[in-house]
Amino acid sequence: MKKSWLIIIILFTFILICSFFIQKDYEKTPETIYINGNIITLDSENSIASRMHVKDGKIFSIGKIKEYPKEIKVIDLKGATILPGFIDSHSHVALSSFLDAMIDLSGFTHKSNEEIWTYLAQQLKNKKEGEWIVCKGIDPILVEDLKIPNIHFLDSISPKNPILLISQSLHNYWGNTLAFKEVGINKNTKNPSKNSYYEKDTLGELTGAIIEQKAFLKFSDHLNKSFLNSKNLIKYTVSTFRKYAENGNTTIVSAGISISDKKPLRLYEHLSSEKTGFTNPLLSSLSFLPKRQALPRHLLYIRHDRLFMLPETKPLNTDFYGIIGIKHWYDGSPYTGSMYLKEPYLNSDLSISKLHIKEGHTGKPLIQKQELTNFINTYSKKGWQIAIHTQGDKAVEDVLNVYEKINKKDLFTKLRPRLEHCLLSSTESIEKMKKLNITPSFHINHLYYYGQKLNDDIIGSDRSNAMLPIRHADSLNLKFSLHADQPMFESNPFRLIQTAIERKTKEGDYLGKKHSINILSALKAMTINAAWQLHKEDKIGSLEKGKYADFIIVDKNPLTINTSDLSNIKILNTFVNGNEVLFQRVD
Ligand SMILES: [Zn+2]
Repeated sequence: MKKSWLIIIILFTFILICSFFIQKDYEKTPETIYINGNIITLDSENSIASRMHVKDGKIFSIGKIKEYPKEIKVIDLKGATILPGFIDSHSHVALSSFLDAMIDLSGFTHKSNEEIWTYLAQQLKNKKEGEWIVCKGIDPILVEDLKIPNIHFLDSISPKNPILLISQSLHNYWGNTLAFKEVGINKNTKNPSKNSYYEKDTLGELTGAIIEQKAFLKFSDHLNKSFLNSKNLIKYTVSTFRKYAENGNTTIVSAGISISDKKPLRLYEHLSSEKTGFTNPLLSSLSFLPKRQALPRHLLYIRHDRLFMLPETKPLNTDFYGIIGIKHWYDGSPYTGSMYLKEPYLNSDLSISKLHIKEGHTGKPLIQKQELTNFINTYSKKGWQIAIHTQGDKAVEDVLNVYEKINKKDLFTKLRPRLEHCLLSSTESIEKMKKLNITPSFHINHLYYYGQKLNDDIIGSDRSNAMLPIRHADSLNLKFSLHADQPMFESNPFRLIQTAIERKTKEGDYLGKKHSINILSALKAMTINAAWQLHKEDKIGSLEKGKYADFIIVDKNPLTINTSDLSNIKILNTFVNGNEVLFQRVD
């Protein structure tokens, strides 16, 4: 009897403490009217409005608005341009959170082989013995004389620290002996699959290369536990979310989240959900969770090989945070030879000696068609939307054929399956997507950053000029989106928009100009189309009465400035659910 009283008293005290903290969420923006604006609504009429009334996180009214309550806050935009917040439809939040802590060895920052290794050696001087070193951006394409390191080189440069290098394409990785040892992999460890493995030399010894994501999983799990401990996880995740907002994103989509247990999901839910959970304010005050603040919405696709992370019954899906589907991979990257093509890769010095793509190589599927068929059948029936990585023309064609054969148009019309990247989708495949109600999300930055190399050294001029046939998708009214695949490229929507319109490489050459789209279509790809792909077109993606007030204020009008200036547009403020995301706030 005494004991049960004690439990009741403890419980009561706990509830009392929680209810004290429960009031402590961040301060919400009061009812506001924005006046004298140039508000690009992206509604079905493409209307431009001058006023927008925001109440309780939603658009109460928009347009001319003659009357509004006297006591509400009035913001005079003085002609500034407002757009719907961007939706980053394909990103990697967990990997991006590592970014701040990684050593940057990319071709965006370094120009030569020597510069990279000298820089790394310098960085290693400040590290404690035994500390994990993770480097990003290894790229034999942008750094032309780059010598891909082997395990011996990495042992010599980092003898006392486990070190991992991550390729810019995120498909290949390299580690030293200590890294393999810490993760528990040696030359006798079984490879996860034929196409994802720990590379060995002719004597059967590890070379240090880790090919494709499945083989990397053990390393990322280990990093999640040691390198990204909970304190770092909180710090880097919050700054990553702010960075997305700083680039104008009000919704982020994790396309296949690389985490090994459900713990980070608690953090993600805490950061993005509309209201704080019952015990979260208490946990925040004890530093187990960060302080709440306005941050972008976050929707997640769970990896096909991490299905234990799925909620048991139905999609866990609110308007602010949710697990909405499953991500699968059918092929890989054009820069490792794992993109699956109909015709072989080009024979060039770069493709053969640097990227190690053999003559006549076409790439291979990462999963057999029957296995994919079973997978789609099983999880579609359970109501899950599926997004499949398809980069090459053969990959896109195969996956569409699988869907066609399954022949459940009504189910797919409801679930809206997605194809990711679609670099080399043929126009016939685009038409088949339309027929099957499957939509693509295009990885348009390939064209800007690697277009010239794709053209000259990897797939040749015919295929480079035919890649990313976005105008065809647009003319068929297919609801496609555009993405940067951060951390492969920074999630910078105006950069994607500019490339989709210009079709210009960073060297200044044009590729397939006939596939360029206009500014309105490009803006819609980043907003209302992406919202549709996420089943949220009634809630976000355009500025209309009743929708959430997710919007950005920018310094120039994208509808009137020169196309070449689009990527220089600055995001001045980002609002999610009517609340401003503070980019610089430090807790
Ligand atoms: Zn991706």
